[in-house]
Amino acid sequence: MNIVIREWSKEFIELFVDGAPLPLLNAIRRYSLAKVPTYAIDEVTIVSNTSAMFDEMLAHRLAMVPLRSEESVDRLLEVDVATCEKCSLDSEEKPPKDLCDKCFVNMFLEVEAHDNEITVYSGDIKSEDPYVKPVYDNIPIVVLSPGQRVALEIRARIGRGLEHAKWSPATVSVTRHLARIEVDKGLCTLCGKCVEVCPKKVLYVDGNEIKIRNIFDCIICKQCMQVCQPKAISVDGIDDKNILRIESSGSLEPETILKISLEILKKELAEIRSFIEELKKGGGS
Ligand code: SF4
Ligand code: SF4
Repeated sequence: MNIVIREWSKEFIELFVDGAPLPLLNAIRRYSLAKVPTYAIDEVTIVSNTSAMFDEMLAHRLAMVPLRSEESVDRLLEVDVATCEKCSLDSEEKPPKDLCDKCFVNMFLEVEAHDNEITVYSGDIKSEDPYVKPVYDNIPIVVLSPGQRVALEIRARIGRGLEHAKWSPATVSVTRHLARIEVDKGLCTLCGKCVEVCPKKVLYVDGNEIKIRNIFDCIICKQCMQVCQPKAISVDGIDDKNILRIESSGSLEPETILKISLEILKKELAEIRSFIEELKKGGGS
């Protein structure tokens, strides 16, 4: 298997993987969305809300604010609210008041508009944990008119995208085949229609042939095939040559999302393997 990092920034990572089947990359893609833990706001106690916004909507908007979790990554992997002895949410009882400081982080938000209308931003949320706080300070939460006030007690907890999208560290996670484009020179009339219609500007006319600018840009939409009357151009995806792109909400670095997805996948596959081995020995249930 050959892996090339095509693009890598604070916001996203894109890999070209040659020699791995698409279902494997698709599993990593799905794990990045559903299984990698992060912190997200999960409980909001409304002490005061005299704004025009309903309490439920205010809580919903807060829940969708991505929280920085990168610096707490060890803690994220160490604890699980579902199994934590102190905070277990498995029971039908409400979680206890004195929740442990690994699963939960306390925050609060208190803003009042005096003489002028003001906007409350994510940056106004104060966290007791300096490492777990809104990724961006400029996400608008609610507008307050003069005299209006919000005072909220907030609890963020560790969770996974499987439970709710607010815990997903990836906003986008996609896989696609690398394209193979072939032009039959004998049939091509050099009309240029494929060049005009291509949304990614992959094709261009060079002298008496159609050339490819960057094959990685091709999204295999096949619009070029549809406009080509002599059927001179063909586009297909290549099996086992794939592109994986993960975009982060900012809560974790893109490479951390990738790494944890792989670790969890590997661990679960090992569990399946040992289960099958137990079955073969006749000891499984
Ligand atoms: S549309 Fe077909 S015929 Fe026209 S330039 Fe493209 S490949 Fe050639
Ligand atoms: S398949 Fe779509 S993106 Fe690829 S070359 Fe044709 S028109 Fe362009």
